[in-house]
Amino acid sequence: MNINLAVLGRQYDLHATEYEEAALRSLRSGWYIMGPELEAFEQEFAAYTGACYAVGLNSGLDALTLSAAALGIGVGDEVIVPANTYIATVLAVTANGAMPVFVEPDAYYNIDAERLEDAVTVHTRAIMPVHLYGQAVNMKPVMEIARRHHLAVIEDCAQSHGAHFGGTMTGRFGDIGCFSFYPTKNLGAFGDAGAIVTDDAALVEKIRMLRNYGSKEKYHNEICGVNSRLDEIHAALLRVKLGHLPELIEERKKIASQYMVGICNPHIVLPETRNGAEHVYHQFVVRTAARDHFKDYLAENGIETVIHYPIPPHLAECYVNLGYGHGSFPVAERYADEVVSLPMFNGMRADEIAYVIDTVNSYCP
Ligand SMILES: *Cc1c(COP(=O)(O)O)cnc(C)c1O
Repeated sequence: MNINLAVLGRQYDLHATEYEEAALRSLRSGWYIMGPELEAFEQEFAAYTGACYAVGLNSGLDALTLSAAALGIGVGDEVIVPANTYIATVLAVTANGAMPVFVEPDAYYNIDAERLEDAVTVHTRAIMPVHLYGQAVNMKPVMEIARRHHLAVIEDCAQSHGAHFGGTMTGRFGDIGCFSFYPTKNLGAFGDAGAIVTDDAALVEKIRMLRNYGSKEKYHNEICGVNSRLDEIHAALLRVKLGHLPELIEERKKIASQYMVGICNPHIVLPETRNGAEHVYHQFVVRTAARDHFKDYLAENGIETVIHYPIPPHLAECYVNLGYGHGSFPVAERYADEVVSLPMFNGMRADEIAYVIDTVNSYCP
């Protein structure tokens, strides 16, 4: 049997007619950018998260970068980021000329709140927690530290649409929540897209300007902005998927619970969920000492896996200037050497889930 990490076509097939109707409605409208579909999606997405406002953007990276810019973060500022994250989180900091300060992950792969306060200096302006793999960060201590030191909090929710911590949805703790709708994400578009959510009207005004060349009124450019708008056709398609998001998340959780119950190989470390945190399983990440051997074994048996992520940002080629080497963040580096994500996607069949479980259980290092 051959199983890919994610088969996006299955998700499309689940509600194909609705997507096709929405795409045709958008195509036939004759209005393709900054129109009624975007406005409706922004309202519906804000309502879903419980925020006052949502602003649609081009990507998750833009959501993070423009959020930092709107908060006035720039040269001379430090922003605390997890050492275990996708590089986009860090790129949003450096794109604004600010300095990323890394903090090691905890046992749940998220930023370790116990090590967070040690990273605060007089230059720190913000914390960027990332709800990695779909599990909400331990937000209570993060928010306490932020308040104590008067720091902004920009949540990277690219992998955590709909995930709660202690009853509050991710994206609703900090000043601003940043979402990606990259096709593989839990709320994936059919191309690049992203958004922010916030209750802060001034931030919304700033980001609306930034996404549209820095203007409120056409040809009156008050600040140096960019072009980062969410297209009408993507907004129309996202409205369809947003309507199904609760059931899509439930399906992921069901697959995860089958993995949790079914996989019982002493060489494989299963993901744990913190008390009070919800996990929406953007990825189902396991860990094993001989990771590359395990990955090859699964590939030989037709199961595709992906490593999220093989090189932690502090060791990325583009950041040699930061001066970190191997051993700078040993926990994050160990995770990078040992983690691997198993297939997890909406529309995954029972026989495929069972095959992954059996194959993993038969693994011998
Ligand atoms: C996907 C992702 C991003 C970037 O989103 P894009 O829409 O691809 O730009 C940022 N942070 C994390 C944690 C992500 O997984």
